[in-house]
Amino acid sequence: MKKSIIAFPRIGENRELKFALEKYFRKEISEKELQQVAKVIRLTNWQQQKNVGIEFPISNDFSFYDQTLDLSIALNAIPERYEELNLNKLDTLFALARGFQDEAHDVTARPMKKWFNTNYHYLVPEINSKTTIKANFSKLIDEYREAKESGIETKPTIIGPYTFLTLAEYLEDTTVETVLSEVINAYHQLLVSLNQENVKWLQIEEPALVLDQSKEKIVLFEKIYQELLKHKNKVKVQLQTYFGDIRDSYTSVCKLDFDGIGLDFVEGRETVALIQKYGFPKNKLLFAGIVNGKNIWRNNYQQSLEVLNAIKTEAQIIVNTSCSLQHVPVTTKNETKLDKDILKHFAFANEKLEEISQLADIYFTENEQLLHQNEVLFNEKRIQENLQLKQAIDHLAEKDFVRQPSLEKRRNLQNEALHLPLLPTTTIGSFPQTVEVRRARLNHKKGELSSEAYDTFLEEKIRECIELQEKIGLNVLVHGEFERNDMVEYFGEQLDGYVFTQKAWVQSYGTRCVKPPIVWGDITRPHSMTVRWSTFAQDQTAKPVKGMLTGPVTILNWSFPREDISLRESTLQLALAVQAEVLDLEKAGIKIIQIDEAALREKLPLRKSDWYSEYLDWAIPAFRLVHSKVRPETQIHTHMCYSEFEDIISSIDAMDADVISFEASRSELSIIDALKTHHFQTLVGPGVYDIHSPRVPSTNEIKTQISRILDKLPLEQVWINPDCGLKTRGNKETILSLEHLVEATNLIRSGVNEYGEQTKENAFV
Ligand code: GLN
Ligand code: ZN
Repeated sequence: MKKSIIAFPRIGENRELKFALEKYFRKEISEKELQQVAKVIRLTNWQQQKNVGIEFPISNDFSFYDQTLDLSIALNAIPERYEELNLNKLDTLFALARGFQDEAHDVTARPMKKWFNTNYHYLVPEINSKTTIKANFSKLIDEYREAKESGIETKPTIIGPYTFLTLAEYLEDTTVETVLSEVINAYHQLLVSLNQENVKWLQIEEPALVLDQSKEKIVLFEKIYQELLKHKNKVKVQLQTYFGDIRDSYTSVCKLDFDGIGLDFVEGRETVALIQKYGFPKNKLLFAGIVNGKNIWRNNYQQSLEVLNAIKTEAQIIVNTSCSLQHVPVTTKNETKLDKDILKHFAFANEKLEEISQLADIYFTENEQLLHQNEVLFNEKRIQENLQLKQAIDHLAEKDFVRQPSLEKRRNLQNEALHLPLLPTTTIGSFPQTVEVRRARLNHKKGELSSEAYDTFLEEKIRECIELQEKIGLNVLVHGEFERNDMVEYFGEQLDGYVFTQKAWVQSYGTRCVKPPIVWGDITRPHSMTVRWSTFAQDQTAKPVKGMLTGPVTILNWSFPREDISLRESTLQLALAVQAEVLDLEKAGIKIIQIDEAALREKLPLRKSDWYSEYLDWAIPAFRLVHSKVRPETQIHTHMCYSEFEDIISSIDAMDADVISFEASRSELSIIDALKTHHFQTLVGPGVYDIHSPRVPSTNEIKTQISRILDKLPLEQVWINPDCGLKTRGNKETILSLEHLVEATNLIRSGVNEYGEQTKENAFV
């Protein structure tokens, strides 16, 4: 074996899986038709890997929704409430993923979390007191057989027991110990089945090893694999890690009876040093992850070669990707609008397969010509540097990062300026991107709808949206973001320095895909980007309309960044551009400006020791730079997706926004406790219902949620809002949900208790 990959995108070159799934959810196609689409994607993927000479294409990297969810199902970690729906296997999976509601049932979706430091989301496995783990790996086996029937011997992949146990949520007094032996046993069963099938290699993914590991955890890891590897029999087992180095478990991993070990040489800062220090067992295969699975730039072969040569081991090396290729788009071949001179610098999943193959050629057979071609590409001068911008950044001083006056003083001025009731209600920004909205945008893009007609259409939508919000009774309105395809791409398109793709979709969760723009050069803002729509919206109403921007850290985190300058440098370039927009909005009379930093938490380094030096020390100031120059009366909001920021609460407070909204409804409000303990100063809108699911929350449910928040936080600190933008939802469920939100808030404001009684003491207004 010489070359391998960890996994391939499953969404399809033209998002075939997404569209088939959506049709299936709308009951427009049958399960059989859905399965057929899935099968074609799998066969195409395997064939492509075969074509470049990958000896064992990967199987079981396919998933209808999420591979961690597939694993929960394979281990029978399916909470009773989903079993009780009595759905077939596939629909049970979708009930866990999306929630389920009909006349007789109402079950919420399992929570989603960011998959390590990526923009992919996994569904958190649930372990409770009734969980009975048992093995059912039929999906893995079926896909292996499917490939075999078409003449392809694959290497199945599976997320490992250690990562499963690390990511799971433990309810009702359960712990890892409650299920440990059953989980090991289930994987043991898997190995037995794989032997029966004559499977040659199994890849077990254990990304949890790149997190900070305590001694106890390493002991647990060793225990699991000492037991498990006894049963591998004829199957060869490859332990695959990614998203960093495994400095705390490296020697343990080497000692265990794995046949191959996969290490990350791209994000794993210490991987080479570990091998140099401790050696690498020569009887195992070393899967060397040198082709970046997260970024879209061509691989620099000379640099990769230097890494491989620095390893100096007698072990056999396999050229590998650094992580699954699901984090990059499928192919550059459909990018017909991008100049060839630009495109030649990019490698998506298919092109990365070629890179794997070429690197293997260069490494094993010293193919000088390939190496030379690649050198020529990297020696080319790609862009002209913007010296003025560089100077502006070099001259930034402390005061550029500090807003005056203090939060408290601003608060009084803002209260006077805005006259908002207690528990102000608002939304996060976007309203449903209906078929109508998307069609108009598409027609405009294709040139079938004139710019004037498109603008009129957008104005009409904004007018409707404002009217709707007034009717529902929300206090702070939004314009609805109908003009935006995506909260990052929209800004990227108007900034200089970005390039765009047509089809470079990457899965974010389930059927949701994003098309990250590519930072090509230095970033500048040639003209204002949002003022026109925000002022139009504000002109329609007497209530405040929030200006809506995406923050610099999020723009960068959801773009494919440059590799020739630092992330900090790129972020500060963006921050200056967004700052100019903030000031333009303020000048145009917008009183509240929301700067979304949805992805701030996401790029937090996986190891705590790197948090500040590698990230927060420049990311938080970059946000402050954006709003440091606004007037005290202007209220700055920010929004973050996912509430998992308990451990960086003081950094969030240090962003110095006036109000922050965040996801808190799928996770059990534990963040609220943390806000209290840390004396969080910023006003907060912890999302009171989950917008990632089509389910409509009842008024009572929202009311309970608000009460729970108010049990912990002072009334004056709380805002009421859904947990994220509404763009992925339909109109019907959105309107109902927001009506319930306002109704619940009004009940709370007027002091109605949980028995429906109105008590004077409880009344706030
Ligand atoms: N303002 C954005 C919206 O509502 C925020 C989206 C997000 O947090 N992902 O769509
Ligand atoms: Zn969000």
